[in-house]
Amino acid sequence: MPVRVGIPRALLYYYYFPLWKEFLERLGAEVVVSDRTTKGILTRGVQHCVDEACLPVKLAFGHVQNLVDKRVDFIFLPRMVSVAHREYICPKFLGFPDMVRQNIIGLPTVLDTAINQRKKQRDIHQFTRQVGAALGKGPIRSWLAFQRAWETHQKYMGLLEQGLLPEEAMSVLAGKEPKQTADNTDLTVAVIGHPYNIYDPFISMNLINRLRKSGARVLTADNLTEQMVNQGVKRLPKKLFWTLSRRMTGGAFNYHDQGKVDGIIHVAAFACGPDSMTGELIERFIRREGKVPFMNINLDEHTGEAGIVTRLEAFLDMVRWRRTAV
Ligand code: SF4
Repeated sequence: MPVRVGIPRALLYYYYFPLWKEFLERLGAEVVVSDRTTKGILTRGVQHCVDEACLPVKLAFGHVQNLVDKRVDFIFLPRMVSVAHREYICPKFLGFPDMVRQNIIGLPTVLDTAINQRKKQRDIHQFTRQVGAALGKGPIRSWLAFQRAWETHQKYMGLLEQGLLPEEAMSVLAGKEPKQTADNTDLTVAVIGHPYNIYDPFISMNLINRLRKSGARVLTADNLTEQMVNQGVKRLPKKLFWTLSRRMTGGAFNYHDQGKVDGIIHVAAFACGPDSMTGELIERFIRREGKVPFMNINLDEHTGEAGIVTRLEAFLDMVRWRRTAV
């Protein structure tokens, strides 16, 4: 029987799930994903996590709990330090496997091999070797498995750049027809935020679908190429060394500068340090130029759906009114 490896539907799931799934399956594992976020999953996460943590980390705790319930043999929580040269992922990712070990009882083995490409790309060899060894596979097989999985990852990123959202791109990779999005849209809105905030329908209060249902085409920073993101972020006097913040800021600036969107919504999570800085940077710049309407939404475990709906409706009304008035 294959070993069962659990992957939480949280944090960098929306970027790396196709890569991790294919890699682990090629190493002979059965991949088990935690359930879609529910109130119950979030509540369990909040109960087991330290109060000071940000909302996405609390939610990820709930997803790990969900995998413990599924009785998996391993939980895959790579210690994400850096995925790009001279850049970092938020330190909370780095400490996440340790926080989980300290706070969750009955955990199976945690696969927490580090990924740190800040200085050397070759660290990824070490990562594949260590994960392979934990699953009883040799270094060559592990490396080849990763190479094939990387091809899938590239295809996945290509689908995102074509305008699909993560769940849609994953369906296409699984051989399903892409869902037709409504073509009766009269405006385009960029939703800028961390992937685990904007793509999780529960935590974002179904933001993207609500916008689509209201007649808006939705774009995110992940629908841009790396080159476009970097073009956008060039206007900053200093390089942003947080990879996700760079993507968000560059994405917002690119959409703004190219005149591709009618409005920009920034989604921030409660207790997120990088979000408070990125949100401020984007807001200051966009308000100073005054070309594109901007709205900031803060999410926390108490955010009410009614408040979000009212604000979205008002924002879209204002964007539509502005287009006719200008
Ligand atoms: S970037 Fe913000 S939301 Fe993401 S893990 Fe770090 S503190 Fe939490």
